[in-house]
Amino acid sequence: MVTHMKSALSIALPAWLIDELATLPSTLATGEERMALVNELAARNYVEGNGGPFAALVADRQTGEIISVGVNVVLSSGLSGAHAEFMALSLAQAAVGSWDLGADRERELELVVNWRPCVMCYGSTLWSGIRHLVVAGAGPELEQLTGFDEGPMRDDWAEQFEARGISVTQNVGREAALAVFAAYGRSNALVYNARGGDGVVIPES
Ligand SMILES: [Zn+2]
Repeated sequence: MVTHMKSALSIALPAWLIDELATLPSTLATGEERMALVNELAARNYVEGNGGPFAALVADRQTGEIISVGVNVVLSSGLSGAHAEFMALSLAQAAVGSWDLGADRERELELVVNWRPCVMCYGSTLWSGIRHLVVAGAGPELEQLTGFDEGPMRDDWAEQFEARGISVTQNVGREAALAVFAAYGRSNALVYNARGGDGVVIPES
């Protein structure tokens, strides 16, 4: 019996970033430095045509070791789930050989992202085992500047992380992140919300 259905998939970082990996610093001591790298990768990602202006990395909070980097590759992979957080978390899990990034209690790993995660990555982050989340910001500016729909996020999203042992640091590298979103908004880059974006009708609550 021959089936036409797929049985596996692969998602890779874009070629330009794979080329960059060897030149990236192996450690970045501060959260500000780590976010600066994330903002740089986000700024390049949409120009290269891989997806939205989003990047993330996983780092060891104590040593500053960079475990993984990720960018949004929705367009280049053809997969709607291939957001930057998912890429960074998954590549970190592949690197440590576990679905649980918090399994080693001696090693506090953090996810650094250039804005508060969307609803999908909110879940991905919650289930990843990560111990800390560092974001550049959390307000409506991302959606206003880029046109992306981040989904129906809870107002208490940060408290929900904290309740599950994931500490949250906000407003690191905020101005640089906003500058990337503003530049993206002025560009002709594709906003790929499936049946979302300007056409989304928010139900009254
Ligand atoms: Zn996301």
